[in-house]
Amino acid sequence: MNSELNEEAVEMNEEDDDEDEEEPRERDDDEGEEGFSVLSDLPVEMSERRPTCRRCCRPVKVCLCPYLPPRPLDVSTCLYIVQHPAEESRVLRTVPLLAACLPPGQCKVFIGRRFSEERYPELAAVCRDPRSLLLYPGATADNLEDLSTDFTATPHNVILIDGTWSQAKDMFLRNALLRLPRQVQLRSAPSSQYVIRTQPTNMCVSTLECAAVTLSIMEKNHSIQEVLLKPLQALCSFQLQHGAQIHHSKEHLIKNGQYNKIMPKNKRKIRRMQKLISNQNI
Ligand SMILES: [Zn+2]
Repeated sequence: MNSELNEEAVEMNEEDDDEDEEEPRERDDDEGEEGFSVLSDLPVEMSERRPTCRRCCRPVKVCLCPYLPPRPLDVSTCLYIVQHPAEESRVLRTVPLLAACLPPGQCKVFIGRRFSEERYPELAAVCRDPRSLLLYPGATADNLEDLSTDFTATPHNVILIDGTWSQAKDMFLRNALLRLPRQVQLRSAPSSQYVIRTQPTNMCVSTLECAAVTLSIMEKNHSIQEVLLKPLQALCSFQLQHGAQIHHSKEHLIKNGQYNKIMPKNKRKIRRMQKLISNQNI
């Protein structure tokens, strides 16, 4: 098997650990050491940056462009993704896939933890716009499905927070701007898909899923959801296939006392991904 594919799968499994923490990468010290020991065994030229596909932002050898729509989807809703900095460095970044499916400029990403009016005037303007909605669940959120607004008549903006559950909560509570727009949540998202509530560790997946469901509702077009989830399903399917091999190698490491990570976490993540792939009627 191609070494790049295995590398991807290793990184996918390691991504599982950032539950309820502000800085996932900082807690992954043991994984960092493992990464370094693997890297140190490689020839120097192997550490050079891998060529990346410009459209899907994936390494060229695992490009997901065949699963993207040939042309950007025709949507009038504009997405604004407020992304925790830790998300940007994740390997399973799904926001670039989302952006690649949408017309240019209709999926904007702001990276940071704190968003002030002064430093983010564009985001501030969006937050103050009465046509903007913040997708974030809570007691004060309205169900998007229950709103009588015709979103196809007047283009709206949707703001999504991209991070782990605790990161998103922190960003919501500490940024007054994000509490300005009308807060909405998804009622129709089935539990297996609604990672934002039940699977707090995997917000990177749920951001794409939530955006897919949201756009389908607002644009009154269910096929949008299918188109947007296609690259995600391909990504999960791909990672699962290759993750299984890494699983063996980790077991091998454990047997040899060289690996101290708790295995069930990976199994849980694998089950989550299997659920996502098998659920066709989202
Ligand atoms: Zn690509």
